[in-house]
Amino acid sequence: QVRVRFAPSPTGGLHLGGVRTVLYNYLFAKQNGGDFILRIEDTDQTRFVPGAEEYIFNCLAWCGLTPDESPKHGGPYAPYRQSERKEMYRQYAEQLIKQGNAYYAFDTAEELEKMRTDFKTDENPSPQYNFVIREKMKNSLTLGEAETQKLLAEGAPHVVRIKMPQNEEVKFTDMIRGEVGFNSSLVDDKVLLKADGMPTYHLAVVVDDYSMKISHAFRGEEWLPSAPVHILLWRYLGWENDMPQWAHLPLILGPDSSKLSKRHGNKYGFPIFAMNWTDPKSQELTEGFYERGFLSQAFVNLLAMLGWNDGTEQEVFSMEELIQRFDISRVSHSGAIFDFEKAKWFNHEWIKKLPVAEYKEQVKKIFADNNITITNDEQFAKVLELVKDRCTLLNDFVAQASFFFQSPKEIDTAAIKPKWDEKKQQFFAELIRAYELLPTWQHDDLEKEFKEIVAANQMKPGELMMPLRVMLVGGKFGPGVFDIAGIIGKDETIARIKHALA
Ligand code: GLU
Repeated sequence: QVRVRFAPSPTGGLHLGGVRTVLYNYLFAKQNGGDFILRIEDTDQTRFVPGAEEYIFNCLAWCGLTPDESPKHGGPYAPYRQSERKEMYRQYAEQLIKQGNAYYAFDTAEELEKMRTDFKTDENPSPQYNFVIREKMKNSLTLGEAETQKLLAEGAPHVVRIKMPQNEEVKFTDMIRGEVGFNSSLVDDKVLLKADGMPTYHLAVVVDDYSMKISHAFRGEEWLPSAPVHILLWRYLGWENDMPQWAHLPLILGPDSSKLSKRHGNKYGFPIFAMNWTDPKSQELTEGFYERGFLSQAFVNLLAMLGWNDGTEQEVFSMEELIQRFDISRVSHSGAIFDFEKAKWFNHEWIKKLPVAEYKEQVKKIFADNNITITNDEQFAKVLELVKDRCTLLNDFVAQASFFFQSPKEIDTAAIKPKWDEKKQQFFAELIRAYELLPTWQHDDLEKEFKEIVAANQMKPGELMMPLRVMLVGGKFGPGVFDIAGIIGKDETIARIKHALA
């Protein structure tokens, strides 16, 4: 049974990389008839940001990546929030101590600080609590059994640390990278249980992946250095045969090939939704992909392609196609560069591809934000259909279609009246009269009438069509001019021509 998990810490918003991790987990689960679990890793209370969990759920809901089990959706392995599982972890820390794979450490914050300066050398500028230094610190390995028990009985503050073996090759097979190996001497004795009794991420992730029967663990490459600690914990706890298969996903890079991060700020490092909660620990970003007018289908599609392709030229994939075609072993080892222009290209493809009914409400909201109220839904849908090929982001609909619902605020008069003369002035006066008399108001009638008057006056349609367009929309853009007139109606068309001529 395939069971995968996404295990975010609620320390801020979700960025591209996080959602891509969710997506690859989800695709893999669904293509194997498995379950996708969302677990909240909130053991680091100092980094907790209120609202972050809700934000994560909203992002996943928008992307259509619904967890099968989560704190919100429930499930057979509840609770799914680590803070609510606190009691579960201590017994494993104690088991590790009994086995000699972990130990109590009583060092105070000052002593640890002192260690960092006392042991600092040119070769070792940032000394770590490891097999060399542990010998010189205050822990159950140096203090001995009696002293340790005494301190514990007195309630002396302490943590539990893993005892990393010396010079051991810790190996595992990564689904993307193949065989990966680490020398255990290079890894410090990570804290497993903190002084407040909370486990650290390292202990909790292993205990929970085991107890939630996780079969595959896909996560960002930044976790690769922690993998040896996790592998050893699986082994020491006697669970090695149940260990999930690992896949460490490549980083997402900015256009300058450095890791995509907050530094890229509002230009590239932006999140999914605006993050404007007022928590000081979290940065404020007022626009995410959603606010910039991305469709969730396009967003999911572009994320999938950041580090994966199916070996063909195909780039536009629906979620269903991705579920069928995604292949974790084809995910690239090297970082994927995020290109905003390419992201917009995906959005444009999806705007063209989807029926407007799919995004009508989202665009309506954008119009409302721009103080344009839509009263006729059917007409609105018709308009969107007419201009959708010209829109890259949903927000472009405002520029491309607002003139259907309100007369243009400004008219590019210079574009209407190049070489303007009496003859043209008369033409439009005649056109108004003819249009006023039309019994029906259809695209074809409007075009026919226009052409007849052009011909009768021996003029060229081209030199009159552009001025008419500018009179109706304000500038030299927009869909077919008779389509526009047909939709805005007789009174409005005539009023706009008159206004421009005045
Ligand atoms: N809690 C970790 C994070 O915030 C999860 C890492 C993992 O998937 O093992 O990314």
